[in-house]
Amino acid sequence: MVAAGTTTTFPEVGGHAGFDLVDTVHWRLDDRRAIDTLSSYDDVVRWCNQTGVVPNGDGGLQAMASGAPEAAAREHAAVIALREAIYEAVFESSPSAVELIAHEYVDALTRSVLAHDDTGLSWSWRVPSDLTGPRAAIAVLAHELLTSDLRAARQCGDDACGWVYLDTSPRHNRIWCTAAGCGNRNRVARHQAKKHA
Ligand SMILES: [Zn+2]
Repeated sequence: MVAAGTTTTFPEVGGHAGFDLVDTVHWRLDDRRAIDTLSSYDDVVRWCNQTGVVPNGDGGLQAMASGAPEAAAREHAAVIALREAIYEAVFESSPSAVELIAHEYVDALTRSVLAHDDTGLSWSWRVPSDLTGPRAAIAVLAHELLTSDLRAARQCGDDACGWVYLDTSPRHNRIWCTAAGCGNRNRVARHQAKKHA
């Protein structure tokens, strides 16, 4: 897989942050074209910032990472493993993937604290504000996704795309990740094939 490492905006078509995370791999179903847009710990932080997944904010994680590159690389690898586990658990029913998410979730909670939220009227889990924060937040959302109703979980109908999403369309007939992207390209391809035939 090619590593992108750019300043791309991450896709948010998944309907759940766990699926948006899976969709950081582009062209997942074609090994020759697959691109991983989370090519470093910094990319993970950028993804967390864009999606608001780490509720207590990034708090200088990128600076922390440049001071501890080996720990950051370990955390990056662990986040990628969690991302792949979400995909394999939901779409391949992989027991080892479910086990990894369970382990990371329990581990995340033991490292988190239950803290007052902004209103002061309620409490919520706050993940560690060190390099392990993104992994903890992602483990929590992976657990939330796995224990939710997954009947609407779908994968884009394109041969190569591989993006996943919750189909919340009224008739539950969403075939494409995006109508403008895969939907349009496949419609054009079908039309051209018909013309040639
Ligand atoms: Zn697609």
